[in-house]
Amino acid sequence: MKPTKQQPKKRTFLDLLTIEKDRYLRKGFFWQSVNVVLGYSEVTFIIWFGSFIWPKVLEFLGQNNVEEWQFSVFFSWVYNASVFAICNVVFMVIYKLEHPFFEQYKVQKDEKWPWIQDPKAWRELLSKTLQLVLFNNLVIVPFILYLGVLLSGGQSTHSFATQDLPTAWTFLWQYCFCLIIEDAVFTFTHSMLHKPYLYKRVHKIHHTYTQAIGLSAEYAHPLEFVLGNMLPLGIPCMILGKRMHFYTFIAIGTLRIIGTTLGHSGYDFPFEPSELLPFRATSAYHDYHHAGNINGNLGGGTVLVDFIFGFNEHYYDHLDKIYGSKKEDRKTQ
Ligand SMILES: [Zn+2]
Ligand SMILES: [Zn+2]
Repeated sequence: MKPTKQQPKKRTFLDLLTIEKDRYLRKGFFWQSVNVVLGYSEVTFIIWFGSFIWPKVLEFLGQNNVEEWQFSVFFSWVYNASVFAICNVVFMVIYKLEHPFFEQYKVQKDEKWPWIQDPKAWRELLSKTLQLVLFNNLVIVPFILYLGVLLSGGQSTHSFATQDLPTAWTFLWQYCFCLIIEDAVFTFTHSMLHKPYLYKRVHKIHHTYTQAIGLSAEYAHPLEFVLGNMLPLGIPCMILGKRMHFYTFIAIGTLRIIGTTLGHSGYDFPFEPSELLPFRATSAYHDYHHAGNINGNLGGGTVLVDFIFGFNEHYYDHLDKIYGSKKEDRKTQ
């Protein structure tokens, strides 16, 4: 359903709590249980893998005389690009399959995928998308990572010490800290990108996709890629500095790349453990922004900053239209 231009309804914090309660209930007990198991396994694996791999990494660096900053720039660069590539290969397979299991979670059900709507226009857009995504990953990412090292005085920004590896608790609070700060920075930079001057020259490229797909997550003008993709996560990580282990930085970065690819996938899957967190934005949330609600839903990770500034009122009206009517249907049955 396309966004409407009607004056939206104002909502209080109590309304937001009801919206959150409905979001949890909509997933249902089965998927929430799956998310609890997935989330628990994810964190347990991350902590275990860190203690397993990290001594080997330090041994490798020592044997090959690789400095921490060199490893942090090179590894972050290659690893992040690889995670994004793998995520998108997985999504390409899912798109190709068109299996009813996945298609039932398609956000814009009344719109066909862009490659079905107009195959010729899609091939042109795909070529442009790949060129820009490659430029951002091959040129912009290493440049910004190197700049981060220079700002940290030629050292790695994060700790490399084995004793600083995260516990589950450290990992979780640093994940939540990054999510909140990232969301605040992203909402701010994203709202700047929607000012007419920057929108026309910069952000319009990202909005070529009125129905987001995985690859579109990084289809952005290089300036936007820095302001909207790298800076929002970079700032909380810089604030944490040596309190954050480099391994934690990589793990959170991985989840962030998976999250942004999912957020742009065009699907709103019920199996996303981070959506157990309160006020977490779903894939449908950002998809609504792409669908035409371009001055709303400016947030990334959470709905909080949008709620404070009233940026998501249209979206909540939209949810009322879809799910409110279903609630009424159930009452009258
Ligand atoms: Zn987007
Ligand atoms: Zn936008």
